[in-house]
Amino acid sequence: MACCNQLASCKTCRLAGDAIRASACGDVAGLRTAKIFSTHELAQPAVIIAPHADDEVLACGGTIIQKLRAGAEITVIFITDSSRSHVRWIKPTSMSWTRKQEAIAAADVLGLDKDRLVFLDFPETHLASYRKMVINRLAVILCKSISPALKAGAGELQVFIPYRYDLNIEHKLVNELAWIAIQKMPVPAAVFEYPVWFFNQWPWAAGKVRTPAQLFGRVGQFIHSRRQLRRDFTMAVAIKYVIQQKAGALLAYHSQVSRPIGQQKYPVLGDVADGRFLRSFFREHEIYHQANLQDQVGEK
Ligand SMILES: [Zn+2]
Repeated sequence: MACCNQLASCKTCRLAGDAIRASACGDVAGLRTAKIFSTHELAQPAVIIAPHADDEVLACGGTIIQKLRAGAEITVIFITDSSRSHVRWIKPTSMSWTRKQEAIAAADVLGLDKDRLVFLDFPETHLASYRKMVINRLAVILCKSISPALKAGAGELQVFIPYRYDLNIEHKLVNELAWIAIQKMPVPAAVFEYPVWFFNQWPWAAGKVRTPAQLFGRVGQFIHSRRQLRRDFTMAVAIKYVIQQKAGALLAYHSQVSRPIGQQKYPVLGDVADGRFLRSFFREHEIYHQANLQDQVGEK
């Protein structure tokens, strides 16, 4: 898994090490009880909707591996062109191309054929201008994913979408648009919402506290986020035994996990909260909020 000789400073190497150590690091902090996906549930076909290339691995990488092993058919839809994560360093057109190649390489590590990836290429950070187009494209793909067997009631299509209260605005928007598209499907789907930037807060990750006011704010955040975790994330997929494969898939995203040589200020995922954010994705379970339409406008 080592990628270079600079083990002390290379974020990619640190990430791989973190991921492997995390497999013995227990579960998501604060998770009380969650129903584990059964073999039957793992075998159901799925569409995974990712706002950006890497979300599918971070949030659902272990689930994709487990579902493929159970014989499920999986499609991954990337909504944006993932072009603007490092605009100070890499031109959007170049980053978009790079992340597409990385997504294909990551899928290969997960065991997913590149034919199962759909890149919609809506411009990152400008998604709100394309709401109707996003909904229509999603609805078409979702409807195409319903096989005659599913229409006849043999099994259920699972759709994985970002968590409605994720802390990233584009993830929240994709949640909203995906729900509208899901309502256009001719048969009901099982919808699972996954957290990504939700983990970038107390108690999982946070910056240093310097003032009493900050401490007060963080305690409130802690109580709120733990309550959301316990209320919403009641489904989980066990990933302990596939965690290294998941780490390998994430490492395919070089542009997100490793700094170019000589670019010490280039931010990587391992920088967020000193690595605590990233470790949230390498626990024993990937967790999901099994949601339905009635929950959509719920209490936050
Ligand atoms: Zn994202």
